[in-house]
Amino acid sequence: MKKEEDEYAVKTALLDARVYYNEEMEKHFQAKDWLEQAELQKLHEEIGDTAIENTKKEVDLTADQEKQLRKLMLNLYKRYDDKNLLRKPQDTYAIGIDLGTTYSCVAVCIKGKVKVIPCDEKTTIPSYVAFNADNSISVGEAAKDQAFRRPESTIFDAKRLIGRKFSDKIVKQDMELWPFQVIGDNDQPRIKIPGHQNTYRPEEISARVLFHLKKIAEEYLNKTVTNAVVTVPAYFNDSQRQATKDAAEIAGLNAKILNEPTSAAIAYDLQWTSDFKRNVLIFDLGGGTFDVAVLQIKGGKIDVKAIGGDTHLGGEDFDNEMVKHIIEVVKKKTGKDLGRGRNSMNPEEKRSASERLRRIRSVCEKQKRLLSSSTSTTIIIDRIDESYDLNEQFTRKTFEDLNMANFKKCIEITAGVITDAKMKKGNIEDIVLIGGSTRIPKIRELLTKYFGGKALNSTVNADEAVAYGAAVQAALEYGKRDEVSKNVWVSDVTPLSLGVEIHGGLMSVIIPRNTRVPCSKKSQYATLYDWQKVVNFSIFEGEDPLAKDNNKLGEFKLSGIPIARAGEEKIDLTMEVESDGIFHVTAVCRSTRGTKTIKIEAHKGRMSKKEITSAKKRNLKFH
Ligand code: ADP
Ligand code: MG
Repeated sequence: MKKEEDEYAVKTALLDARVYYNEEMEKHFQAKDWLEQAELQKLHEEIGDTAIENTKKEVDLTADQEKQLRKLMLNLYKRYDDKNLLRKPQDTYAIGIDLGTTYSCVAVCIKGKVKVIPCDEKTTIPSYVAFNADNSISVGEAAKDQAFRRPESTIFDAKRLIGRKFSDKIVKQDMELWPFQVIGDNDQPRIKIPGHQNTYRPEEISARVLFHLKKIAEEYLNKTVTNAVVTVPAYFNDSQRQATKDAAEIAGLNAKILNEPTSAAIAYDLQWTSDFKRNVLIFDLGGGTFDVAVLQIKGGKIDVKAIGGDTHLGGEDFDNEMVKHIIEVVKKKTGKDLGRGRNSMNPEEKRSASERLRRIRSVCEKQKRLLSSSTSTTIIIDRIDESYDLNEQFTRKTFEDLNMANFKKCIEITAGVITDAKMKKGNIEDIVLIGGSTRIPKIRELLTKYFGGKALNSTVNADEAVAYGAAVQAALEYGKRDEVSKNVWVSDVTPLSLGVEIHGGLMSVIIPRNTRVPCSKKSQYATLYDWQKVVNFSIFEGEDPLAKDNNKLGEFKLSGIPIARAGEEKIDLTMEVESDGIFHVTAVCRSTRGTKTIKIEAHKGRMSKKEITSAKKRNLKFH
């Protein structure tokens, strides 16, 4: 009898030990996405030892029984080890980055779920870079917070400069409003920081923001990140895209470019489980740019029909209207000009004007946000000008009146894109709102009215959707399809027509705008003169019939053409656009059977490999 009781007690104790082992292992296993092999092994040993000790307290274990128990636990451990291996994350994760004009955001796709990575509990960071007095650099909130103290050394809006020429009239206009200095070098805009010998290209500023986001992601994932999908406005031209890629390279990221509205559409599409076809309009009004896209979505297939927008329309423009208004009101009331000294040659006057304007602007932006939920607010800044305290009532109505022209422009552009997509507004099934400025009630009202009272969709997060979609695309692009719950196929279109200048300065379009990418189109040209040995090609993008009024992307010569009469020698010009909008041109002289192929590799003004390498080094020095 005693013996039987003993046996029973041992059996129960062994069972308890297994249950204990399993429960403990499971607890640790569930607490983390993945455990290092050594960590799991250690857990197994520790839990196993405790299980044996506990059992020994209950019953007398023979050496054989102990061995048996250890074997049982080892089998259990092997199961955990296998499961753990399956959960093992890839050595590197690819991240999705929404590099915004005013705010940026980073996300990653892990095991089919997208995680927008927070930084100090916020999911977006201001796209601000500050060069500090001690030769360090701050990025994001830290940089924006001190912007009014060091306005000449705090850089924002790099996205407005990137890939543009110094002579661009948009650059000239923007410069008037920036407190930092931009100079031209070979028609390239460069940012000059007081006390710095070097000047910085906008690519280097954007690289700092990207670098910061990369670090946030690496800290979160506890892994090095080298691959990314970085989004750009659909309206970005080729040189703006290339420059964004270069910025990523400086930040140590190998990047693919994705259009922002397409990215938002991916995020939107993932909400749907049904497969019916829908026509979707993405309305993205952010801080700096306005983007519209009409897409057709069906079971993960995203077909972009048309895109459009304005590279210079957004929340910052609304802020500017508020600042101008406040200055006028104060001038009328007190005779004081809060904007004085802005263009002064006296550095001290200029500095104090910058500081004043910066403070007004920052309060205006905050109050503007409030006006989306309340109808009136007050702009208060103590001692804005010596002892003068600013205290002005500001109503939503005033805000709307000041910006009505801007708001109406958004609707006009939207209408144009729907026409480009060969649709009527009644064909649009969903209107998806993206970007911080879509919270403005008047915008929503005008849009609803335009669509005949149709409800707007705000199921995706207006601030995070772009980064969200980019994270999904990153997982797909970098071979981690199993990380994504639903497959997505994107087919995008070219934002601008691409062509070549022909006789008489006309633009001969080879790839019309809104052509699906990737694409390749060939066009034939002939020599113009007798015995012509060389043909010059100038490549442009834009919609103007005159080439010179479009944006010149580059030029090249095709030489070595055999001697012949005018028109006898034929040249094939092929333009190819990759799926991320980056493009190449090849010219082939037919009679030489393609041996004279020239590819446009670099843009006028694009950073050279050498420049990128030295910018990369410089970037690391600040760290
Ligand atoms: P971007 O992608 O261009 O950087 P975001 O989509 O992040 O811009 O939007 C930022 C803009 O949205 C800023 O101009 C900000 O002032 C504005 N914004 C954010 N929240 C609100 C709100 N509640 N009401 C009005 N504007 C807002
Ligand atoms: Mg944006």
